[in-house]
Amino acid sequence: DNTLHIIGGGMAGSEAAWQAANLGIKVVIHEMRPKVETFAHQTGLLGEMVCSNSFRSDDHEQNAVGLLHWEMREAGGLIMQTAAQHRLPAGGALAVDRDPFAQSVTDALMAHDNITVEYGEITALPEDGHWIIATGPLTSGALGEAIAAETGADALAFFDAIAPIVYFDSIDMSKAWMQSRYDKGETEEERTAYLNCPMDKAQYDTFIDALLAADKTEFHEGETAKYFDGCLPIEVMAERGRETLRHGPMKPVGLTNPHQPEVKAHAVVQLRRDNKLGTLYNIVGFQTKMKYGAQADVFKSIPGLENARFARLGGIHRNTFLNSPTLLDGQMRLRSKPHIRFAGQITGVEGYVESAAMGLLAGRLAAAEIRGETLETPPDTTATGALITHISGGADAKTFQPMNVNFGLFPPVDGLKSGRRGRKDRYKAYTDRAKVDWRGWLDAGQGN
Ligand code: FAD
Repeated sequence: DNTLHIIGGGMAGSEAAWQAANLGIKVVIHEMRPKVETFAHQTGLLGEMVCSNSFRSDDHEQNAVGLLHWEMREAGGLIMQTAAQHRLPAGGALAVDRDPFAQSVTDALMAHDNITVEYGEITALPEDGHWIIATGPLTSGALGEAIAAETGADALAFFDAIAPIVYFDSIDMSKAWMQSRYDKGETEEERTAYLNCPMDKAQYDTFIDALLAADKTEFHEGETAKYFDGCLPIEVMAERGRETLRHGPMKPVGLTNPHQPEVKAHAVVQLRRDNKLGTLYNIVGFQTKMKYGAQADVFKSIPGLENARFARLGGIHRNTFLNSPTLLDGQMRLRSKPHIRFAGQITGVEGYVESAAMGLLAGRLAAAEIRGETLETPPDTTATGALITHISGGADAKTFQPMNVNFGLFPPVDGLKSGRRGRKDRYKAYTDRAKVDWRGWLDAGQGN
């Protein structure tokens, strides 16, 4: 049977269905709402935005998420084309009127000759056929358990505890230094895995005060998380005692500051390399429920991070996601059951746009496979390609956490100035290169 079955009609599932159906494939979308609800969705519509009504920046020359918009538009994406119909004024952001938006996504899918929608929860992994699982961060409990039984419990998370991620080129290396604790590590890669930012007592005290005073977000109703050890928000650790962090993630032991070898640091903030390129570093153990504005203020008080730019800020959320670097192959298939692809937030991307983009890609890959063709994934110089490359192997599997699209995931363009001053030219060069390569990928796919 050449039907493509898609579980979940959210951002990713809707886009995957549209792409495959337009390539001539019969598609069945299995959507549990409105029969079974989630704590965040409000309607029974396909393509519902669960929280903000914004697809973020639409700037496709200077912004990686805007570039993702552009790539999806070029590929005839349903989410972007419907967003254009319901756009609201929002400066440089692409914001939409959410209910008419989701209604139009639903209408377009229902009206498509190749698409049918079956309402009901899927509770087990399908044994055969062609499937895409796009059930999102709030995957139903029964299906979540079935996935965990297949992948192993360690490889499927139900919460994310995201430490903020900083662009390496925004870290002041006249204050920070590279060293792993007790100089552990044999290879160059291991020795450059950690960066350290020292604090004296006064700086530490100010930092703790700022943490305690910062604005924090509450968990959503129905989302209540049991904090598990090793994953406490830093502000909760600070509430337990002013010295807790100094004995935990900020312990100053096993490290010598080459800028001031004679001074013993009172506390040290460690950052760990987050991708193979070495362009991104996460702040170790700094998962947090602080509001985004507060996070930027508090983290910039860390010596060396005064001018830090964040690829993403920290958070703790209900979020079902796979350890994709170990579980998925380059074609988004589950290695152990290759008739099942995954798409959307459950693959370890973060955000409406990223989820839709991973749906677009999964839909095209599945359609090609059903037609007996081979479609390569797009090159990592494109936004879609950079994301799929990251989740299917570019990221470190041991510390894998959901990722927004950002230029740190792109291979550098040669011969451009690094640092702050060259940034505008650099981003333009990234997006120019991406557009050429994305069109090339689309053309190659059509030639099959
Ligand atoms: P979804 O859009 O959630 O779609 C998954 C679909 O699968 C749902 O329709 C669900 O009903 C269905 N489903 C689940 N289990 C089953 C099953 N067993 N059988 C059949 N159907 C099933 N991102 C942003 O960019 N901006 C935000 O403001 C934002 N806010 C968020 C707020 C919350 C509370 C959460 C949880 C996430 C938020 N996200 C946000 C992150 C994420 O981008 C969105 O959740 C996005 O909708 C993910 O797309 P998706 O297609 O992967 O999942």
